[in-house]
Amino acid sequence: MRDWLIGFAVALVIFLAVIGINVLPVLLLIAVGFAIYTLMERRQMMAPTGSKETAVRHAINFDHIGGQDHAKRELMEALDFLRYREKIRSLGIRPLKGILLTGPPGTGKTLMAKAAATYTDSAFISASGSEFVEMYVGVGAQRVRDIFRRARQSARKEGKDSAIVFIDEIDVVGGKRGGHSHQEYDQTLNQLLTEMDGMQTTQSPMVLVIAATNRSDILDSALLRPGRFDRQIRVDLPDKDGRLHILRIQTKDKPLASDVDLEHIARESYGFSGAQLESLCNEAAIIALRDNSTQITQAYFRDAVDKVLMGEKTGRHPTSDELFRVAVHELGHAIASEMMRPFSVSHITIAPRGNALGFVRQIPETDGYLYTKEQLDQQVVVALGGAMAESLVFNNRSTGAQNDFLQASRIARTEVMCGLSRMGIVAEEHLPDGILDEEVRFILSEIEQRTREVLTPFAQDLHDYAQYVVATESIDGTEFREWLTECKDRFVSTSLPETYSVTTSEQLVEPSEITRLAN
Ligand code: ADP
Ligand code: MG
Ligand code: ZN
Repeated sequence: MRDWLIGFAVALVIFLAVIGINVLPVLLLIAVGFAIYTLMERRQMMAPTGSKETAVRHAINFDHIGGQDHAKRELMEALDFLRYREKIRSLGIRPLKGILLTGPPGTGKTLMAKAAATYTDSAFISASGSEFVEMYVGVGAQRVRDIFRRARQSARKEGKDSAIVFIDEIDVVGGKRGGHSHQEYDQTLNQLLTEMDGMQTTQSPMVLVIAATNRSDILDSALLRPGRFDRQIRVDLPDKDGRLHILRIQTKDKPLASDVDLEHIARESYGFSGAQLESLCNEAAIIALRDNSTQITQAYFRDAVDKVLMGEKTGRHPTSDELFRVAVHELGHAIASEMMRPFSVSHITIAPRGNALGFVRQIPETDGYLYTKEQLDQQVVVALGGAMAESLVFNNRSTGAQNDFLQASRIARTEVMCGLSRMGIVAEEHLPDGILDEEVRFILSEIEQRTREVLTPFAQDLHDYAQYVVATESIDGTEFREWLTECKDRFVSTSLPETYSVTTSEQLVEPSEITRLAN
């Protein structure tokens, strides 16, 4: 087109000159026009080329995704449908049109979709379900059409023969249809289904839809039918190895001090999503910056875990009496935790953060899915430890244990419902009124007695040590264990009951994981 125009202009000028018209103004006009044209072109080129370059340099691939080995493998397998299209076609296999990624927020679903585009060398267009929701009927459907059109366009422009359309939060439009009140949603969803049904293997560029949701249960069954989203891939919270992998990725370009133990951080960050781990690494760097440090140390990471878990430190200033009480309370949790499961206390702090005045962070047990009755009982002992310590030291209690009690009764309830109580096997719906509450109360009072027995020997030492905790504000698990061992040694010299046996090094078990925050 451009060459043609230039040719035409040159011919025109020559023609005008030949027939004897003054060509100077025309030449001038052409020169000005050309100058404006190139200027505009350059400006236009600058934006897209710039972003294209960064897109190439920062292209997300599967190596940027930590953990999720299973999901990654499944996704790659599915994507081979796009990579080896000829083979698929020759076997007469129906093309893969949609892949649904399900899982909690921040686990890397968006990353996976981007990596999928890189892996299959496809153009990438993304939209969020909420963008399709409009007050006016028909707008959402129009947007769906646009997205698919844009996907094909940009694939052609980039010289690729496939495109990936990523729709985040698909549940917003893909919720179950029905009723007349949601006509707009219905139209949007119908449009999406129409687009997907219209896709063919022979089409070029070929389009693949990847959708993400954390609520696959509410999706309309029409979406999940064969020929639509017929692959569902679960993207779960990472396990310990996954967390370690993500931490490695997220700290790759950060200056870590030599004392940083990512393995330990991975163990402590049980239940964190990939996004939370990213935030954790970022927070650690910010704390280092505030501290004017050029390196990120383990201590900064520890603070960052607290921050991600519990929120920013609050400006609350408890009175010194309150601080002392909080210290006693938290030490109660900590002693209980350590007595139930040696090496389980990560650290204790009485700096107010989020809603908590203080808390004990535990090193969680191995990623497990089942708990025994004894494990649940032990969790209750830890939860009740705070209030029990207050009783022992002050002879009274405070409002600070409300959450602990809530947690304890929830665990006790679980025991009953799982047939772990005196009552044996029960079915919730057949339980007469009040029986469940009564049984929960019974369990709690039994375990409260056990908690008292665990903590009583420490009462005096606890009082003194709490003053030290008030002074230092935060105690590391290792330091706490040293103190605890000293106390226990003292009991040994004054006839130690069976349950308080001192842990010897043979009993050093690898800390196992149950996550729970005692606060
Ligand atoms: P989702 O789409 O599942 O909500 P995202 O893919 O948007 O999660 O993740 C948000 C951010 O969290 C990413 O940009 C990345 O920094 C980080 N992240 C999440 N999961 C992972 C992971 N598995 N590996 C590395 N980083 C991750
Ligand atoms: Mg996302
Ligand atoms: Zn508590």
